[in-house]
Amino acid sequence: MSERLEWAIALHGGAGSLSEERLAGREPQFVASLERALRLGVDMLYGGASSLDTVEAVVRELEDDPLFNAGKGSVYTHDGTHQLDASIMEGRALRCGAVAAVSTVKNPVTLARRVMDQTPHVLLVADGAEAFARSAGVELVDPVYFHTRERREELERERAKEAAGAAATSGLGTVGAVALDRAGDLAAATSTGGRTNKRFGRVGDVPVIGAGTYADNRTCAVSGTGKGEELIRHAAAASVSARIEHGGRTVGQAVREVVRDVLEPGDGGLIAVGADGTLVLEFNTTAMFRGAADSAGRFEVAIR
Ligand code: ASP
Repeated sequence: MSERLEWAIALHGGAGSLSEERLAGREPQFVASLERALRLGVDMLYGGASSLDTVEAVVRELEDDPLFNAGKGSVYTHDGTHQLDASIMEGRALRCGAVAAVSTVKNPVTLARRVMDQTPHVLLVADGAEAFARSAGVELVDPVYFHTRERREELERERAKEAAGAAATSGLGTVGAVALDRAGDLAAATSTGGRTNKRFGRVGDVPVIGAGTYADNRTCAVSGTGKGEELIRHAAAASVSARIEHGGRTVGQAVREVVRDVLEPGDGGLIAVGADGTLVLEFNTTAMFRGAADSAGRFEVAIR
């Protein structure tokens, strides 16, 4: 293994088919948002913060940003509501926490962290997760907080397409972060509003540990985005780790195998950091909002 970097971080703001119409003239806004979140992560890791605290803070920042499909700006369900999912995991002891289908929690990733830190459980859902949120003292909001006009219009378009029998489009915007800290610990976190027009309590990969999020100090930390059903089916994040552990792959090889050979074109993307700080950002869609930075001086964000 090559020498370990002191710290490294990657983030994503979702992978999917990029609508040039949606991006029109707003590319600088997306870039600025990604840079702001990445800078926050860099400053924390540089200052000695843990990877766990860093991925939580970076994901919170992206949840608060209405441009992304997580927290404020989340997509709408078929019924015109919001149901948010999030998870977080650390690679030293494999501790993890997740929440699904919450609708009044401002920062679902922080609730996931509380599940990890304050309960013997891993995944809490819906009303139970809301009750835990009240007892854990995390910030609650009126559901109208999550509204954005753009996401509402997206729902109307998807409903019209559904009525016309047309296939659903995959938007993009789920957020996630992976990091290696100075102590050599890895962590990953992911947060999403899910898929536009979802119904019947649909939950995707994001709160499913091993599907959308995974971290193990011996191998890597991974956060995914894209068609949640496919990421669950293939245990995408855990599969990257298993390929390193049992198949002798590098983190780069492992991520590329899963994104290129296991998932289908158009399914999504993964970001990962290896135990040595190697960053890998791979997607099989037309775009993935993403950023990467490390102690060797790398600092870059990209969209296409
Ligand atoms: N993976 C998310 C989900 O299926 C959505 C996305 O990443 O765009 O809920």
